[in-house]
Amino acid sequence: MKANLSLGSVFGIKIKVHWTFIFLIIWIIFSELKHGGNKDSILFNIALVLAVFVCVILHELGHALTAKHFEIETKKITLLPIGGMASLERIPESPKQELLVTLAGPLVNILIALLLYFIIPVKELMHLNFTETFESLSSFTLQNFLFYLYIVNIALVVFNLIPAFPMDGGRILRALLAIKMNRVKATQIASNIGQFIAVLFLLIGLLYNPILIFIALVIFLGAYGENKIVQHMAILKGHTAKEALMTNFTTFQPNDTVKDAIKIIISGTENNFVVIEKDAIKGLLYYQDIIENAKNENVLIKDIMNSSFKTIKSTDDLKTVYQLIHNQKNSFFPVLENGNLIGVIDSANLNEFILFQPKFVY
Ligand SMILES: [Zn+2]
Repeated sequence: MKANLSLGSVFGIKIKVHWTFIFLIIWIIFSELKHGGNKDSILFNIALVLAVFVCVILHELGHALTAKHFEIETKKITLLPIGGMASLERIPESPKQELLVTLAGPLVNILIALLLYFIIPVKELMHLNFTETFESLSSFTLQNFLFYLYIVNIALVVFNLIPAFPMDGGRILRALLAIKMNRVKATQIASNIGQFIAVLFLLIGLLYNPILIFIALVIFLGAYGENKIVQHMAILKGHTAKEALMTNFTTFQPNDTVKDAIKIIISGTENNFVVIEKDAIKGLLYYQDIIENAKNENVLIKDIMNSSFKTIKSTDDLKTVYQLIHNQKNSFFPVLENGNLIGVIDSANLNEFILFQPKFVY
C-alpha cells in the first residue's frame, strides 16, 4: 500500500496526502452522526475540512517558496490528519533565513484571514447579540462556511506560534536564540522547551482530544531528532568525506549474478555494492534489489542495478554528505578522488565516525 496519494505539483513541489487522512473524514462523519447531524451537516463539515487543508497547503507553500528564495528546494508537501509538512532539503542555518522561512507560513494564514474578514463581512456578524450570532451561524450557508474558515485560519496562526520546536513558534524561538548564542545551544534550549510543551499537549490530549496526543508525539520525537541532527552537523563541520569512508569494500561486474552478491552479503557485513567495468562505475547495487531478486539467483547484476546515482568527492564536506544521506532513500554512495573510486560511504559508517569524535556527547 502506498503511504501517500499524489495530488500533483505546484512550483515543482509535489503535494501529497498521507493515507491516514481518510481517518479524519471518517471521524467527521461519525462525530456528525453521533451529534444528530444530517447529509447537509456532514457535507458542510467535510467541505470545511478540505478548505482548511487547502489553507494548510498554502501555509506550507509559504515556507517552501521563501526557502526557494534562499536556494533551498522542497521535495514535497505532505498532508497528514494533524496538519501539513513541507520537506525542505535542509533547514537554513542562518537565523535570519530560518526566521523568514518560518514566518512566511503563518503570514499566509494571516493574509487569508484578513481577506475573509472583508469578504464575509465579520464586522456585521459582530454586531449581532449572542443568540442571534449562534442562530445565524448554525445554518449551512456560504457566509458561515467562510466565517468558520476565517476562525480556523486565526486558530492556525495562534497554534503554530506556540513555541513547541520543531513547530513554527519553536523555530522562531530557536532562530532568535541563535542570534545571541551558538546554534547547537539554541537548538538544545528550543528542543527542551518543545519537549516540555509536548508533554503538556499529551496530558491535555489524554483528557480532551486524541488528535493532540499525536501532535504531542510528533513534536516530542521531532524535537529529539532535529536536536540530534544539529549536534551531528556541528561535529562533522570541517571534516571531509575522505576521513569517514570505508576502503574495504567489494565491487561487482555488470555480468556477475545475484548469487555472487548473496555470497558476499552472508560472508561479511556489506549490503550495498558498486558495480564497475573497466574502472568506470556503471551503477549501484542496493540491498533491497538483491532481496527482491534473491529467488532468481541467476539474474545478472546489470539488470537490477541502479544506473542513476550520486557520487561524493573525497574533498566534500561531511556535513553535505550527512544531509545527502538523510535526504536520499538509499544511503550508500561511492567516493571519488580525481575521478577514481577510492571508497564508499553509508549512514552506518558515518554514524560510527560521529560516535568516535571527541566532541561527541553520549
Ligand atoms: Zn508552518
